[in-house]
Amino acid sequence: MIRPGLVSIVGAGPGDPELITVKALKALRGAEVILYDRLVNEELLLYADARALRIYCGKSPGQHAMTQEMIQRRLIDYSLEGKRVVRLKGGDPFVFGRGGEEALALAARGIPYEVIPGITSAIGAAAASGIPLTHRGIAASFACVTGSRCPGGTDGPGGGGPPIRWDLLAHAVDTLVIYMGVGQLREIRAELLKHGKAGTTPTALIESGTTGRQRTFVSTLAEVHKLAAAVQLSNPALIVVGEAAAIREQLRQLQHQAAVRIG
Ligand code: SAH
Repeated sequence: MIRPGLVSIVGAGPGDPELITVKALKALRGAEVILYDRLVNEELLLYADARALRIYCGKSPGQHAMTQEMIQRRLIDYSLEGKRVVRLKGGDPFVFGRGGEEALALAARGIPYEVIPGITSAIGAAAASGIPLTHRGIAASFACVTGSRCPGGTDGPGGGGPPIRWDLLAHAVDTLVIYMGVGQLREIRAELLKHGKAGTTPTALIESGTTGRQRTFVSTLAEVHKLAAAVQLSNPALIVVGEAAAIREQLRQLQHQAAVRIG
């Protein structure tokens, strides 16, 4: 009998291909089959063995190249063929990545698997934008929230389950990082304002964080939907709501002043 191959559920990091872990790279190099997602930087596939089978499982909002069940079926089938399998996902596999469902499916079949974490886009994009998610005296907590459970949301990796408690999040958390929220920005903004979040709260939009195409904009919660429309914000993007978002501007001003002094 063939021994089932190890399945590694791997985080590829937030976009910049250099932000992958050493452990993830080692798994990629050893893989015979790689199932990768839309948000994975394809440059990373260059690290894989030339003979490795590369399977695109891309899902864009609302349209699925492969259903979650099909992906899980393939992970199991390749493992049972004795293949060394890597399931490569954008960011971290356990943060809105459906990695948990895949781990459960593998565990249920007794398939050996491991999970290799990645830098989630909230962490990567905030760092690359000069927005500290916590900041002494300003932000003592942050939360990663899906925006796709708002009215009109999709059934993406954040979909399903009970609605998000914007009433509680508006007050209990200092910095909110909202994934998959671009399509529902108006609803999210309205929910937070309705539940007492100040319209003056600094709010950032980060598109394609950590990549060469990154764009970051800072506005206020009251105005953010207008900004998003004006700049034609597109996916993948994050919404960061909280006083910490204003630190970006402070950093830029200080850098500018220093450059003027030095120059
Ligand atoms: N597992 C991933 C999240 C997948 S859900 C992670 O840990 O980052 C997909 C959502 O992630 C997108 O809708 C977007 O909100 C966010 N996202 C992923 N990559 C991003 C990037 N480079 N810049 C901004 N947002 C990103």
